[in-house]
Amino acid sequence: MTRDPSRPDEKPFRVSHSRQEILQDLEKLIREGNLLGADRDPAIIDGAEFDRAVIKKKGKGSRFLVRKVPRRSTLLRLWFRLFENAILPCALFDGLSARIHEFEHRETLLLFSRDRILYDAEIFHGEESVGELTLSFASLRDPATGIRGFFSRERLRVVYIEDIHLTAQKSGYASALFRHYERFFHDLGFNQFRLSASLSVGRYYWAKEGFDFSEGTESGKRKAELRTLVRERGLPVREIEIGRLNHAYDFARFRRELRIPVYRDAEGFYSSKADARFREEVSLPLGKAFLLSSAPWEGYKTIYASTPRRTGLVTSRKYLSHRTRRGHVESPGRLRLLGKAIEKGGLRRSLVALSPYVPDLAFLEEIHRAEYLARFRASVRKGEKIFATEDCSISAASFDVALLAAGGVMAGVDAVLNGRVDNAFCAVRPPGHHAGRDAAMGFCFINNVAVGAVYARSVYGVERIFILDWDVHHGNGTQEIFEGDPLTYYCSLHEHPTFCFPGTGRRMERGTGAGSGFTLNLPLRPHTTDAELMETFEREVVPEIERFAPGLIMVSAGFDAHERDPIADLDLTDESFAYMTRRICELADRYCSGRIVSVLEGGYDGTALAASALVHLKTLQGRSRECSSERE
Ligand SMILES: [Zn+2]
Repeated sequence: MTRDPSRPDEKPFRVSHSRQEILQDLEKLIREGNLLGADRDPAIIDGAEFDRAVIKKKGKGSRFLVRKVPRRSTLLRLWFRLFENAILPCALFDGLSARIHEFEHRETLLLFSRDRILYDAEIFHGEESVGELTLSFASLRDPATGIRGFFSRERLRVVYIEDIHLTAQKSGYASALFRHYERFFHDLGFNQFRLSASLSVGRYYWAKEGFDFSEGTESGKRKAELRTLVRERGLPVREIEIGRLNHAYDFARFRRELRIPVYRDAEGFYSSKADARFREEVSLPLGKAFLLSSAPWEGYKTIYASTPRRTGLVTSRKYLSHRTRRGHVESPGRLRLLGKAIEKGGLRRSLVALSPYVPDLAFLEEIHRAEYLARFRASVRKGEKIFATEDCSISAASFDVALLAAGGVMAGVDAVLNGRVDNAFCAVRPPGHHAGRDAAMGFCFINNVAVGAVYARSVYGVERIFILDWDVHHGNGTQEIFEGDPLTYYCSLHEHPTFCFPGTGRRMERGTGAGSGFTLNLPLRPHTTDAELMETFEREVVPEIERFAPGLIMVSAGFDAHERDPIADLDLTDESFAYMTRRICELADRYCSGRIVSVLEGGYDGTALAASALVHLKTLQGRSRECSSERE
């Protein structure tokens, strides 16, 4: 089973094996003394010592006897449940115990329990025993699928690293082994590879820090802890830096870079406070200091989920509190419906949840005039019902929510550019692409996608950014902001300005000054179909992305070009959105390591919006079928 890591879309080569072949292999492992059954759930033997002579594990107080080999029918049943017929037992054994660098596994054993299979090995470096490893394979009912999953018998197949001990100097081995395992289990079709939290080796030292949390309250708690620590220690950290942390991964990075003093006792335990016992001062990165001086914790870190690409979803309940007047098409209901569709579609678990943060106002002034932002804030604070134009309906929270929408895109950029996810979709509102440097219009106040692009350049040094805007309306605000900039390409597909708001975006608008040739407008006639759109996309958009070779692709993803949309007249279906998403994923793979940050703009038929955005998300995850383009 081989797979080239540089080509993430390549499907692993999979063979089916017969029951007879699997049984033969199991017999071979039994003859060699590598397969046994356990009479209790082996998951509880954490830290136990295995004594082959008496075939029992001695744990802390608890011990269990390993019985003789289980019945063949039991072996086969469990084998099929966990590995189907994708791999033979001996091949599994070889894959698990692969020799990496100078390290090898000996004393290897497969333990069959009632509902899981355990792999246990001692790790050797030459003749020296340097550690132990215990993995367990389980097939669980997926709680996310609810009653439907119960009837369809959908199962979640998970590999847990129950235990790994290595002498400190050998830590590089764990990283190499896990990289090997990540691919191996992925190719075997496992849904998740999870790491026991009690691990502290190599890059996985940050296991606790890297814990996925999808609850906003969890990141809030961590921020509060961090603020307390910063205050207590007088650390040189700005509030905005803490505000920007919205995911476990960001906390990990942050904590790695900041060193603080901790205190060690005679036995090598650490405390964050000095006292009679903890006397020796040591300077450690914040994360390590936290980890070493805190109590043990429970849980596992998910190293990967089963989708080919890791996709982040930025959203927040706070986006609902920008209220528009009754009957306004840009309503909180849009995001509510989208959230429900994601839940119902069973996507929630496979998406990496990212929370938005409130950006520095000073940073937003790089995109919008300070005076404009002040005017917008004043209008909201005064309790006005509209700002600037009739269609820009506002409520008490609008200024804060608009800031949070821009900060949502910044959070998406953070996650994509620091490698936390491969790509991200930012389900934010209010939308942004009509907002210019100094103007609100078309339901937009702050240009979210422009903020994201400027942020990606100024903080992460991304040189060339391609913004693809497939909202049915021309993104006049985004065009205005970047039309003189040769490093930010703005390309828009929209209904022809003669028929559609805002009346700009003609072909001859190609950028200004140094930015000439880096704006491309592709007006579409009313009732354009999927086939026509795809044809235009291939003929006009793809060659421009190829020519520009971006370091990041951003999408102004409005879904109002859908045939059901009430405020425009194109006749597109989900197919178009799936198609364009697939194509930009392919181009992003080629030019920028797959990096895409997509930002919700319009889409005013709730059902069409939810369905299209769902297709967009699934395609970003690499779930839907291959692209049918002949260009490849
Ligand atoms: Zn629109």
